[in-house]
Amino acid sequence: MLVNVLLNRLSELMSEQNKKADKPKNKGDRPNPFDMKKNKGGKPKFNYVWIYAILAVVFLAMTFLNPTGGKQVTVDRVLSMVENGDVKKISVINRSRAEIYLTEDAKKAEEYKKDVPESAFSGSNAYTYYLSDIGDYEFFNNQIKEAQKDLPSSSKVVINPEVKENFWDNPLVSIVLYIVVFGLIWMFIMRRMGGGAGAGGGQIFSIGKSKAQLFDKDTKVNVTFKDVAGLEGAKEEVMEIVDFLKNPKKYSELGGKIPKGALLVGPPGTGKTLLAKAVAGEADVPFFSLSGSDFVEMFVGVGASRVRDLFKQAKEKAPCIIFIDEIDAIGRARGKNAMQGGNDERENTLNQLLTEMDGFGTDTGVIMLAATNRVDILDSALLRAGRFDRQIYADMPDLNERKQIFDVHLEPIKVVKNLDVDFLARQTPGFSGADIANMCNEAALIAARSNKKLVEKQDFLDAVDRIVGGLEKKNKIITPDEKRAVAVHEAGHATVSWLCEFANPLVKVTIVPRGRSLGAAWYLPEERQITRTEQMLDEMCATLGGRAAEKVIFDKISTGALSDLEKVTKQAMAMVSIYGLNEKVGNVSYYNMDNSFSKPFSEKQAALMDEEIKKLTDQQYKRAIKILKDNKDKLLLLADQLLEKEVIFKEDLEKIFGQSAADKAAEKDKTKAEKKPKKKKVKEEPESEIEAK
Ligand code: ADP
Ligand code: ZN
Repeated sequence: MLVNVLLNRLSELMSEQNKKADKPKNKGDRPNPFDMKKNKGGKPKFNYVWIYAILAVVFLAMTFLNPTGGKQVTVDRVLSMVENGDVKKISVINRSRAEIYLTEDAKKAEEYKKDVPESAFSGSNAYTYYLSDIGDYEFFNNQIKEAQKDLPSSSKVVINPEVKENFWDNPLVSIVLYIVVFGLIWMFIMRRMGGGAGAGGGQIFSIGKSKAQLFDKDTKVNVTFKDVAGLEGAKEEVMEIVDFLKNPKKYSELGGKIPKGALLVGPPGTGKTLLAKAVAGEADVPFFSLSGSDFVEMFVGVGASRVRDLFKQAKEKAPCIIFIDEIDAIGRARGKNAMQGGNDERENTLNQLLTEMDGFGTDTGVIMLAATNRVDILDSALLRAGRFDRQIYADMPDLNERKQIFDVHLEPIKVVKNLDVDFLARQTPGFSGADIANMCNEAALIAARSNKKLVEKQDFLDAVDRIVGGLEKKNKIITPDEKRAVAVHEAGHATVSWLCEFANPLVKVTIVPRGRSLGAAWYLPEERQITRTEQMLDEMCATLGGRAAEKVIFDKISTGALSDLEKVTKQAMAMVSIYGLNEKVGNVSYYNMDNSFSKPFSEKQAALMDEEIKKLTDQQYKRAIKILKDNKDKLLLLADQLLEKEVIFKEDLEKIFGQSAADKAAEKDKTKAEKKPKKKKVKEEPESEIEAK
């Protein structure tokens, strides 16, 4: 009954608040605490206001409904009360507890006054005394009858037997209630601390369970190695793991130990998850997939318990694969940031993971795969033998691999027959596999929007633009003057980089405004590991080409070159203070030594470096101006074409300037290289002649 009262009150509260939530908001954007926030699934999220409400109700219930209203008395005292005719009613509950209600007159009497409960809730209907145990019911009944035999029948008391589920008397109930209350408080605090990262109300009991997503017979992984393009080396290593899972005996009989885990290392979107899924698909075993951050919760001990649960489940399903994405969330080196505190929980989780990995034998058939893009920050204990001792690299795809990835993702898309995949691969330098997948999808959407039957090359180009530069801003207002300035600026970049041998090769130039930038020149970053001085200088020159062109054509410079200047300054600083490419400053590097408290160099050195940085940028700016002055007519031609077409490709530049400096140099090298072997032959011949002699 009490529970019912509670529930009624709660539902009243809720409906009141729902009404409030339904009202249109009229106070600007201030967040309304009664808003039912929708989470992903569309289910209303438990707002913290509910927690307040529940807490309040539970506390009220516990204070007012607990039988603290009366005072414990003895049987003799009750009998004397009855004898005096002061008792109105006696309720005997469950034949053991008696509650004594006094008459109104008696309540006012001096004798009882102090014992009458005053609580507003108990009111006048409350009992004043109780007997927690009456002993034998019949005997008690007789005693009462005996005691009041002299009283007039009008004021005789009848015993009123009641059967009550005496809920609140049960110690278990109070314990449970306290747990619930503290659970709610705890959840509330954690929610505030964890920024809502915690579980919703219903999940509190499953918090220690692993959140792994399981793919097995029912939800089969149907990714195979065919779906993974490129990554040849990685695939080969991973195939071995498939073999371990398929024929463990083959290895263990020879005394070999099956690896427990492999770490997939590489930048995001390069197909690490895909590769792990392919392993599961090929080996035809269950696949547990989860992210490192799934272990992390503000609650103490939850991470470790989730790890235990994960391994328990995995062992039941063996042979199987556990895949932990972004393992750096738990695997970061321990004890490095002790100052920050709050790391204990993560360390416990990591320790548990290490223990579990040591715990399962190599014949259990559980193989762990984990992905990260930051091996360097992982705890070395994770990388030790018997844990993730293998590292498999998934790098960004190169041109050829990009082509293969396109082939995979173009398969389900209806494209025009003569689509040049090679061209697409060339247009997408620096794209990861995920970017390419995204781009193919985007192209299909763009084509569908204009009601095309097949996806064309232009749709793919639009998709590239969208992915690289954010959404095209058609409505951005630019005056014709501004547009011309942008065209000249971009043409300047293009001209200088075309005429500098070592600048990055140009892919295209555009003056279509996108996102924050008004125009852009895309370069194909050469895939090189070492940059030489002349390459850095040429790049700086090309970067300054935009501003230089404005100067040459309009004799005015603008604010449009902010990001160019930033880039050039960074490059010049790097040359002088990091790579030791400056003669005067010499072979020193202050890489990562610079912090705001103490500089690793003297004031004099600082002044010298400043001077050299300025000299470098000035020199390159002058060089850019000279190049542009010498080619002013071509620069103007290019700017005009840009104004007209908005986008210009490598081929158009070739028409204006002829072969680029880089191509010319490459050709020279080629002819040199062709000559070289001849020379060698000439050299060799006399030698052999000598030998023959
Ligand atoms: P990661 O785990 O490395 O961040 P994912 O494996 O999640 O990357 O890749 C995301 C998506 O990108 C994949 O589902 C797939 O569609 C695509 N993708 C990435 N790399 C490749 C690849 N090498 N071959 C084919 N598709 C790829
Ligand atoms: Zn620029």
